Amino acid sequence: MLKKVLKKNIIISTLLDVYHLLLPSQRFSALKVTVLIFIGSLVDVIGLASILPVMFMALDTTVIHTNVWINMVYTFLGFQSENSFIFCSVLALLFFYIVKNIISVLIIYFQSRFCYNIATNLSFRQFISYYSKDFLFFKNTNSNEIYRDIDMIPSGYAVSVMLPLLMLVSEGIVLAVIIITLSWIKAELFLLLILLLVPAFIVPYQLLKEKVHHLNESNTDLIPTHNKNILQTIFGFVDIKLTGREDNFINKYIKTKSKINTIQARLYTLDAIPVKLIELITILGIVIIFTYTVFWGNTKGELITLLSLFSAAAFRLMPSMSRILNSLMKIKGWKHSTPILRNIHNNEFNPFIIESLSEKMKFSNKILFENISFTFPDGNQFALKNITIEVKKGEAIGFVGKSGSGKSTLMNILLRFLKEQTGRISVDDKLLTDDNTRQWRNILGYVKQDIFIIDGTLLENIAYGVELEKIDFAKVEKALTMANLEEWVSNLPDGIQTNIGEFGSKISGGQKQRIGIARALYNEAEVLILDEATSQLDTQTEVEITESIENLSKNLITIFIIAHRLSTLKNCHRIYEMEKGEIICSHTFQEISNKF
Ligand code: ADP
Ligand code: MG
Repeated sequence: MLKKVLKKNIIISTLLDVYHLLLPSQRFSALKVTVLIFIGSLVDVIGLASILPVMFMALDTTVIHTNVWINMVYTFLGFQSENSFIFCSVLALLFFYIVKNIISVLIIYFQSRFCYNIATNLSFRQFISYYSKDFLFFKNTNSNEIYRDIDMIPSGYAVSVMLPLLMLVSEGIVLAVIIITLSWIKAELFLLLILLLVPAFIVPYQLLKEKVHHLNESNTDLIPTHNKNILQTIFGFVDIKLTGREDNFINKYIKTKSKINTIQARLYTLDAIPVKLIELITILGIVIIFTYTVFWGNTKGELITLLSLFSAAAFRLMPSMSRILNSLMKIKGWKHSTPILRNIHNNEFNPFIIESLSEKMKFSNKILFENISFTFPDGNQFALKNITIEVKKGEAIGFVGKSGSGKSTLMNILLRFLKEQTGRISVDDKLLTDDNTRQWRNILGYVKQDIFIIDGTLLENIAYGVELEKIDFAKVEKALTMANLEEWVSNLPDGIQTNIGEFGSKISGGQKQRIGIARALYNEAEVLILDEATSQLDTQTEVEITESIENLSKNLITIFIIAHRLSTLKNCHRIYEMEKGEIICSHTFQEISNKF
């Protein structure tokens, strides 16, 4: 029961969420920041309290002599005139406020730096969590959703949940101390404040929280679609222009943009309501004090004292209260992002760097596929059925068959992006398992139809992912020669340092494929998989590639090649024909040329 109540309380449940999201070392930092905030709040309250004696002295100079404490300071410092004492007190107050606000700014800096550091770390851990998921997840999930979850949600969570939570702590302390002090000085004020403050919190929060929550949730849901709407117009430029459908795409983009902006406008308005409301409540307080002193009150002096106390308190209470309300609303509005972060990787270290890139699987004899079968989770028939083949080192093996016959699926199993549901693959009698996937991939090269070109130089694209200073130029040269790119490169304006543009927009399809081959060769691939990589090549390039396949094969590089055109398979030792996930026959090039 108690647990249920605690879980329902927004502050407590958020505190628990944050506690679970933070790593142990971060929890300790959070504690340190909280202590700092506590100190900051106390300094704040002291600052507020220090205005009071100065104000009382200004109202009535006799206080300097009647009040024991003030009198003590007055005589101790040897003041002769009351005016100079008041003047010096005001100067001291000014000095104190300067120091206090410097401290406040420093604390805000620590507080926000802490939250933004957490955001970075959450993104890092979220990235690792996502990157640990399998191939099918990435194939079946919209990239914009992944982008949102890795990049936007962690930052949003830090700014809209963790910072407000810390704000809630610090402002809560200020609020509590002020209320307690005031009620200690004047009990009636306590009653008045409770009567005003409790509804001031509860009413707007209850009225607005669902709205804010709903708006934020819609916003988060819209973002992936919105990003997709922009990106597909950029990537689809040629097709959109050609078909003249600019209108449709722009309208689609504007529609979501307008929805998002309307939500933002509403949120902005809702954000302003607490400030206005609290201003209203302060005025209401003043009205009540007036009414109280006019009808039941005693002297004008009492009215002034009450009003001064109340105004001094309101000066600090007003911003405090609106911040608390805004923080609560922000937290409520972002509550929906917690489940997205819940599966976050729970470790401080990157599990990927442990895997060695230098350790290679020994491959000197053969690769054996035995009875491989595979069905996609959402598929109702075999994508692969009982595939059994044996490939010797240095052989070039071709695959042909209609689209959808399972050729790419078989290659994805060989690449270990998909796992066979029955059967097994062994390399030199060693089974391919999860444990040796890294070593196995270290000898694989993969060139697919839509090879990924990064926005950078040719060099960066061949030595893919290698830090610039660690690039082995001799290996790059060798890879270029083997992929028949040498002549093309020598004619480029900046040679190997030529920028080939985002997604390879400045190069042809054929050149792209050969860069893919060079990339695989740079990594000293012993097994090369070409999945329809040669489909975009012109006849001359195709001849060159076919020759290099022969050349690679002579160098004992084993090649699996899925080809669009039969002629590419000229130098293959064997060609398998696939249909509906099965290998229906095996041919030599001569046999298959006669058949088709
Ligand atoms: P190929 O490369 O020979 O053209 P694929 O290996 O890509 O054929 O596809 C084999 C079968 O698996 C097809 O029927 C295809 O629809 C199905 N398939 C491919 N990828 C997926 C996927 N991610 N989810 C579900 N089914 C898939
Ligand atoms: Mg395919």
